[in-house]
Amino acid sequence: MFISKVLNRAFLALTTFRIINSLRYEFQIIIFAPNFIAMDFQENSKTYYAPMHTAEHILNQTMDRMFGCGRSCNSHIERKKSKCDYPINRELTQQEISSIEIKVNEVIQQKLEVTEDFINLEQARKEFNLSKLPEDSGETIRIVRVGDYDACPCSGVHVENTSEIPPFFIASASFENGAVRLRFKLSSVN
Ligand SMILES: [Zn+2]
Repeated sequence: MFISKVLNRAFLALTTFRIINSLRYEFQIIIFAPNFIAMDFQENSKTYYAPMHTAEHILNQTMDRMFGCGRSCNSHIERKKSKCDYPINRELTQQEISSIEIKVNEVIQQKLEVTEDFINLEQARKEFNLSKLPEDSGETIRIVRVGDYDACPCSGVHVENTSEIPPFFIASASFENGAVRLRFKLSSVN
């Protein structure tokens, strides 16, 4: 009798936890849906992969620090393979490509916490480039931070710590239509 009561309670607790968890996820998607589509990338839930998207944040910051080019002007992020374009008007050297990989992996290996905070629109305009922000995104902007390395407005889903991101590598780099296109992958992701 006692055991069945305990099992019942455990089952109830687990079910409640699952419901709350799924609600939390739904809530996040609903709240951020407009931003999600416009600011992140063309994606769908089947190919969405938080480690890849978080790696994109790190890559964007790295590219801006190395080349002063800002964040990617166009991107397509998927679980297996992603690409980002940067407004750089020349081809990158092999050495530069290696340096990007090394830097992104260094940041990943620092086991940085990925956190969020919310600031008002006026403040966000002062600190960030909001050109990709949809008009109806409201008065409160979510800022996602990768340790002290990167901060940007984003509504996507991220890893909690960069240690969850597998090693990053650039599959190819090309110079097309006045921009550098990087195609990249995370190791051991199929
Ligand atoms: Zn993001």
